[in-house]
Amino acid sequence: MTLSIPEKLAAVASRVHACELRHARPQGAVRLIAVSKTQPAESILAAHAAGQRDFGENYLQEALDKMQLLADQPLTWHFIGPIQSNKTRELASNFDWVHTVEREKIARRLHEQRPPARGPLNVLLQVNVSGEASKAGVSLAELPTLAAAVAALPGLKLRGLMAIPAPEADIDRQRAAFRLLADAAKRLQAEGYPDCTELSMGMSQDMEAAIAEGATMVRIGTDIFGPRIKGSE
Ligand SMILES: *Cc1c(COP(=O)(O)O)cnc(C)c1O
Repeated sequence: MTLSIPEKLAAVASRVHACELRHARPQGAVRLIAVSKTQPAESILAAHAAGQRDFGENYLQEALDKMQLLADQPLTWHFIGPIQSNKTRELASNFDWVHTVEREKIARRLHEQRPPARGPLNVLLQVNVSGEASKAGVSLAELPTLAAAVAALPGLKLRGLMAIPAPEADIDRQRAAFRLLADAAKRLQAEGYPDCTELSMGMSQDMEAAIAEGATMVRIGTDIFGPRIKGSE
């Protein structure tokens, strides 16, 4: 049986709510980001008609094409992919949130290129909590320096942290990685960045661990939209 997008969205939303309940999180504490990369604009419309507002995209050109088609819809757009420095102008002009800031140079460009009329761009710093050499993200050691640099840029608003930990099958190990991110955000809040409260962590395989450790945004794609569409990546 093939479920429709509204049915799959409702199933994911109820998983999120069940995890909130199980881990004593306030209801509605976790925002579901529907990751719509490779999916057509009609699928985004179908999810929006079912009440979904936040959408995550990884590929800039693909995202811009869909934003143009959906310009009359009140959607909130999150950029969750790697950032190329020659693409920052379009990112700064078109997105509401960027989850993957990991370098000061990129932050500076986003700040300079953010149209003032749109207000400061909401920024999360991507942290490499697993310490893998190949993984994206600033190290925990370098995070305070990057946070200070970003917080000083009025075109940006430092809202929190994001991570994609190395896959782990065991929930306690998943939780340990997310706890590192949550603790880092608490330290930043205590050190003078009180708005650094958002934690973008958790995908379909590790959502429960992330919510248990304080995720405020989970990023789910395939479980809502079905398999990624080949050829559009
Ligand atoms: C693609 C992606 C997701 C969603 O992955 P699915 O397997 O489709 O649920 C979440 N976060 C990031 C950063 C992604 O690139």
